[in-house]
Amino acid sequence: MKYFPVFLDMRGKRALVVGGGEPAVQKTRLLMKTAVVITVVAEKPDAELVAWAASGCIALHRRPFEESDLDGVFIAYGATGDHEQNAPIAAAAKARNVLINVVDELDPSDFITPAIVDRDPITIAIGTEGSSPVLAREIKTHLEAHLPPGFGRMARAAGKLRERVAHAVKDISARRRFWERLLQGSFRAAALAGDTQAAERAVARELAAAGSSNREPGRVILIGCGPGAGDLITLRAQLALQRADVLVIDRLVPNEIVEHARREAKRIYVGKTPGGPSTPQDEINATLVREGLQGQVVARLKGGDAFVFGRAAEEMSAVRAAGLNVEVIPGITAAHACAARIGLPLTLRSKLREFTILTGATADGELDLDWRALARHGHAFAVYMGVDNASQIRRELLKAGARPDMPVVIVENGTLVSERAFATMLHDFGACIESERIVAPAILFFGFDWQAAGLTRPSWVKAFTTMTPEFAEDWSQAQVAEATHWVMG
Ligand code: SAH
Repeated sequence: MKYFPVFLDMRGKRALVVGGGEPAVQKTRLLMKTAVVITVVAEKPDAELVAWAASGCIALHRRPFEESDLDGVFIAYGATGDHEQNAPIAAAAKARNVLINVVDELDPSDFITPAIVDRDPITIAIGTEGSSPVLAREIKTHLEAHLPPGFGRMARAAGKLRERVAHAVKDISARRRFWERLLQGSFRAAALAGDTQAAERAVARELAAAGSSNREPGRVILIGCGPGAGDLITLRAQLALQRADVLVIDRLVPNEIVEHARREAKRIYVGKTPGGPSTPQDEINATLVREGLQGQVVARLKGGDAFVFGRAAEEMSAVRAAGLNVEVIPGITAAHACAARIGLPLTLRSKLREFTILTGATADGELDLDWRALARHGHAFAVYMGVDNASQIRRELLKAGARPDMPVVIVENGTLVSERAFATMLHDFGACIESERIVAPAILFFGFDWQAAGLTRPSWVKAFTTMTPEFAEDWSQAQVAEATHWVMG
């Protein structure tokens, strides 16, 4: 870091701007946001500078720069737009230890002016050490989009309440939660809109609620954290993670996501370790209840979506039975994320009107599924947790009459850097898993086909086949024979 960011108190200080053109106007306009006393020295001042001088906002001297202009000055801009003219200004400023910026010249400058997001009293300064003002502007635009114009007003209103709240809510972590509730709830809406009366009513309500119960009950938030990629998480989940005191984390959830939480939040890891034992569900439920009853905001981080093979129902009923509140924040489930990765729509207008998701995991060794329905031609389904039972799935489908050329697509570690995908068919599907050493987590797509969708397989999705043309020919002849037999009765 070559430049050190600070926020300077400008009240009662003096600033000098030398120059009369556009650069001088811009810097003067910025300085006018503060309470600094501004003098502009320019032989030919722009009309805007003249107007500001006429309204008493700045002092304007229509003449060339003199060294004595720097007397008593705290911060100065060489904004003449001319290197030859700026050089003596910079030299004189340096000799007097006046902070100097020469517009668009890094060398003679003590400081650079950042791109500024102004939500007074919140100010965000963005600097690129002069490497890319365009990037700085891009970041500024992003930030401005996230911070509504009333954000500063809300911050100021909150600032005025600090003492009152500190007095009413003594416990520090309870106070933090109070502020989080206030700044997310009806106070936020009112303060952003500038409705001071409604804001005051919201504060009074929250303060009364904080005073009436000694300890607020804890809450459990089931958060769908998406399939793995750090940016496939919702904004709502991100905000909830920042509010949480305790994190109960599935091991499928990557660190990048957990990083959204506060550093001080307690972390409890549950679920299955790769190749190791999994935490019993009862124990997870008990952990959620225990932490919640201590008045904590407990975030339960789950891979994908909590309602898809996430055992959410058990956790919700255990938590509710203990008298705690549960909130659910949806996430992107693995099948959706994997389908998006490989560009394979899950429904097609008039061609594919339904798709099924199912689990290929077994509790007692047997997969009890409606194989005949699944084997029906034109049916499409996505299998979670199916890799370990691949050979059973293949056998049952073929036995139930599925076509050996039923398309199968496998996505392993979807959206992660280790992601792989294979396009094969039912006949070859077991061999594909075995020879490519595919392991969980993976989604198996059956009956989905790029061609049927009028699309093509992305080139990075590897085609895998062992089915010889002879086999295919034999099989289709057998099909014709079977169909004929069926039609003839
Ligand atoms: N609640 C999760 C599913 C949990 S069950 C969700 O909505 O996605 C675990 C199974 O999800 C894995 O065995 C695998 O089939 C699937 N899965 C989870 N993450 C995956 C990923 N990144 N790529 C492929 N499959 C994934």
